[in-house]
Order: sequence, then C-alpha cells, then structure tokens
Amino acid sequence: MQAGGQPGYIVLKPQLFVVHYDEIALKSGNRRQFEQLLMTNIQRKISEDVASFRRESGQLTLEITSATDAQEVEAILGSTPGVAYFSPAVKVSSSIEVMTSTAVELAAAIEFDTFKILTRRRNKTLPFRSLEVNQRLGAAVIEAKPERRARMTDPDVTIKVEIHKEHAYLSVRRVAGVGGLPTNPSQKVAVLLSGGLDSPVAAYMMMKRGCTAILVHFQNQNQMTQSVEDKVVQLAKQLSRYQRRTRLVVVPFDALQQEIIKHVRSELRMLVYRRVMLRLAGVVAKRNRARFLVTGDCLSQVASQTYENLDATYQDAPLHVFSPLIGLDKKEITAISRMIGTYDISSLPYEDCCSFFVPKHPELRADVDTLRECEAAIDLKGLGEAAITAAQTHEWK
Ligand code: ATP
Ligand code: MG
Repeated sequence: MQAGGQPGYIVLKPQLFVVHYDEIALKSGNRRQFEQLLMTNIQRKISEDVASFRRESGQLTLEITSATDAQEVEAILGSTPGVAYFSPAVKVSSSIEVMTSTAVELAAAIEFDTFKILTRRRNKTLPFRSLEVNQRLGAAVIEAKPERRARMTDPDVTIKVEIHKEHAYLSVRRVAGVGGLPTNPSQKVAVLLSGGLDSPVAAYMMMKRGCTAILVHFQNQNQMTQSVEDKVVQLAKQLSRYQRRTRLVVVPFDALQQEIIKHVRSELRMLVYRRVMLRLAGVVAKRNRARFLVTGDCLSQVASQTYENLDATYQDAPLHVFSPLIGLDKKEITAISRMIGTYDISSLPYEDCCSFFVPKHPELRADVDTLRECEAAIDLKGLGEAAITAAQTHEWK
C-alpha cells in the first residue's frame, strides 16, 4: 500500500502488527518477563527475521520485512497463548494530513457501508484531540465515497487510529487470539495423549495457562498400529502450533497390556491400564523435567471416570495429576476441539489400547486395594522399563 508522495509519510511496508495481551497486563512485578516470553514465543515461530519487535504502551508492535509472509504471521499470532487479539496495521507519521489520507486509502481497499473512526492518543502533547481526529478522518472517508455512513454502535468497520508522539498506527481489522498466558519452556507438564477427543483439548488448556506440554502416548501393537500412530502424530503436530517446541513420546504398551489382560479381570482392566499409564508417564515426565501429569479426564463422562474410579486411578500416581476438563460438558470440550483444529483428527476411526476388550459391565466404584492386588502379579518394573527404553520420540519446532 503506497500513499504516493505525501509529506512526512513513512513507507507503509514493512507491514506491522499491533499485538494486545490482557492477562499479562494484570501482572505487576513480573510483567516484563511475561512480555518478553510472549515476544520470544512469537519470534521463534516466524521463519524470517523480523524488522523490529518492541513494547509500546501496554502492547507489542511487530514489524515484519517484505521477505516474511504476513499470512504466516497472522496464523502464528492467532495461535500463540498470551495474545488476546491483534491488528494488522500501517505505521505513518502522526500528522493529521497523513493520517487522513491513510484512512481514506485503507477504506478504499475494503467494502463496507457503515463505519466509525476510533482514535486513541498515546501521547497527550499532540496539538489535536481524539474527537477532532475522528471528525476529520470520518469526513474524508465519506467524501471519498458519499454513500458511506458513520455509525457509532456496531458499524461494519472500525478504523482504529492510535497516535504516538511521532507516529501513528491505523488498522481496520481486529483478529481474536487464544488469550491466556505465554507458554514457558521451564514450566513443563506431561500430557497423556490418547487418540480421542478430550486429551488434545486438555493439552491445549494447559498450554493456555503457560505450560509446555510433553505429549505421551501409549501404543498398542495391532493391525491398526500405523493408523493410530499417524493420528496421534497428526494431533501432536496440530497442538505444536500452540507452543514453542513440542515433543511426543510414543511408548509401546502391548506387552504390559497382555500382562494386564492375563492377570486382571475385565471389569477392572481399564483402571489398571490407566494406573500403569500414569506411572510410566511419570517416568517420562521426570526425564523431561515436567512436574505434573495431565489427563483428559472429565468427571462421570464414562465408567472409568466416576468419582470413585478417578480416586482409585490417581492414587499411586508418581506426580500430581491435573485434569483441566474435569468440570466441562462434552459439548464444551467439542467446541474447543473444533476451535483448535483437533476435532477432525480426533474423529478419524481408530482403536486405541483402551477401547479393546471394553467389558459390558465395568466396575463403577473400584477399590484401590483391589487394584493394587491385581497389579502385584504383573512385572511392572521390568516391562515398564522395557517400554520406556523402546519409546519413540517425535519433535516439532
Ligand atoms: P480421550 O477422548 O482423550 O481419549 P476418553 O474420554 O476417551 O478421553 P479414556 O479413553 O478413558 O477417556 O481416557 C481418559 C484419559 O486417559 C485420556 O483423556 C488420556 O489422558 C488418557 N489416556 C487414555 N488412553 C491413552 C493412551 N493410549 N495413551 C495416553 N493416554 C491415554
Ligand atoms: Mg480415549
């Protein structure tokens, strides 16, 4: 976009994004660290070097060079936890003439009937008031196309003008981000990722609260092995958009599953699988310096997740277990999975190790001592170590 010889005009390229956060703004002592983390997380995802990236009055301004794909940057900003919303913007000098011509030019590039100009002066020494800027720019936008109308409530387009001492940002679009807090590489959790709908959402919820999720999948060898692995890899890849680096650890579970089938009656098997998975995930977690385990459990959703069964499942877990979906309805979980792009992948057909041998009447109120007795017959240590040793790791940047 070129303004064509306006005095004092700063070239409209490279493109710029004004990035807003909300929860970070509530931090007092450590706000700077959160801002820095957010900037680093964004910057690491962009394949090219950025022209500049800085803090400016409670927001961040990211300038990219012409070598960078603006669409790619939009996708990154839209999926980085900590970003509340952002606006692709142009930067011009803060002269009223330049801002007016830029507003007209931006308006010419889009279709709308009703609009408003929303001005914020970040520098109060400027020789004009916000209201005057609104009126002057608004009049010019209407003059360029008289059928346009100004409307203060619910207009088709809001032309936002943010004026700093020597420069101003103008934008016509506001894009919602993920919200939450930036993911911290030293705040790790190990998420038990099945191929289902819930656990990818649980991983996302933890990322949104500033955690880095190490994904752990327990794999049963069967005729569907390849499709399950593909599915879990696809899920992990999709989740990798929300954090800086993603590690998926695929642990073979076949030998342990055979043992469990041999020694545990069918009504209790699912609970023993889950208890064993938590123990092995704890080993992976500790190796990766993750201090918590995370599951996609949701209270009373299925037989294995009744109040009593969850209690029996979580006892003996080597680390504290977080279950961020515990109070959500299936409908709410589904809506999040659609939003984060895991729904279609989770819906692909597959058989994971838990969906085999599901009994007609599973135990609804398991007693932990009974589960412990069943487990005593299994060589958990030997088979567990072998499974961890044979685990495969995948990584995404
Ligand atoms: P999901 O939709 O995530 O599979 P679910 O409602 O089907 O969850 P279960 O299959 O009982 O419930 O599993 C409950 C939780 O146990 C999952 O959310 C996940 O955290 C963990 N889990 C189950 N199977 C596996 C697996 N094969 N590998 C890793 N974690 C698993
Ligand atoms: Mg499942």
